Amino acid sequence: MVPIHLSLHEPADHDRVNSTLLKKISDVLLRSKRIIFITGAGISRSSGIPDFRSPGGIYHTSKSHKIPGALLGRDVFSAHSMENSNSRSQFYCFIADLKTLADGAQPSPTHHFIDSLGTQGKILRSYTQNIDGLEKKAGLLNQDRYISSEIPSTSRSSKCVELHGNIHSVRCTLCSSKYECTAEILARFHKGDGSKCPECLTRVEQRKMYRKHPISVGMLRPDVLLYEEHNPVGEEVLKQIKQDLALHPDLLIIMGTSLRIPEVKKMVKSFAVSMKVSSGARNILSRDRDPKQSQNPPEIWIRLTTAV
Ligand SMILES: [Zn+2]
Repeated sequence: MVPIHLSLHEPADHDRVNSTLLKKISDVLLRSKRIIFITGAGISRSSGIPDFRSPGGIYHTSKSHKIPGALLGRDVFSAHSMENSNSRSQFYCFIADLKTLADGAQPSPTHHFIDSLGTQGKILRSYTQNIDGLEKKAGLLNQDRYISSEIPSTSRSSKCVELHGNIHSVRCTLCSSKYECTAEILARFHKGDGSKCPECLTRVEQRKMYRKHPISVGMLRPDVLLYEEHNPVGEEVLKQIKQDLALHPDLLIIMGTSLRIPEVKKMVKSFAVSMKVSSGARNILSRDRDPKQSQNPPEIWIRLTTAV
């Protein structure tokens, strides 16, 4: 078992140490055949997408902060923001700004790094907490690119799992129908408004034709997971994790996340323990962040734990 911690922002006198660590990481990557990635907002920062919690992050720079009484910090991403029209409008504006930013962004070197390991047949799965959709732009959601003889065909579902949805799709608040977030829907979000669900509207018309009682029409909301909200794809994700655990991953790489989300922390522990690296798991879980960088989290903070 080899837990490895590497900061790319260490002072110059640590260059030699980092160089040794990079060599170790390179060796481990060469040997590994079933890698699990768990990534967070840090891997998109160099693409121009701010993270959430740092001083320059989304929680502190959203335009909605200029509005008196606006939601602050993580409350923007709370399920409660959907409960009244004022906070819902703020949430829609916030998501519209973020989507506009993501539409103009390109995948970072880290996304390409993950993709390159995928095309070499080394990745079992990449789980991302990010909602910016840059994994898709990098090709990570296209499983046809990652056929590998090392990994059984049952595991050839998408190489990337978006744990918290993405801002490029919307879903109905009533019937859960999913749609692409079109320019028209985005323009309404920018104004703080939602759009009516086409599927619900169709059902309303059909019921009218058959003279049935009218039903409500749902609104299209961003298809992202909010705090205190049930994850609509939670069971699917758990099933995927179980399948991946059964395939005995040989390397766990955690990048760009402070592991603040309990479910993600639990997932990390499951993978680490399955690799029989319980001490490594404790090490990972007890170090939410690099203490030296606590006021200025590094863009990329790599933690690798390997069973090989
Ligand atoms: Zn609907």
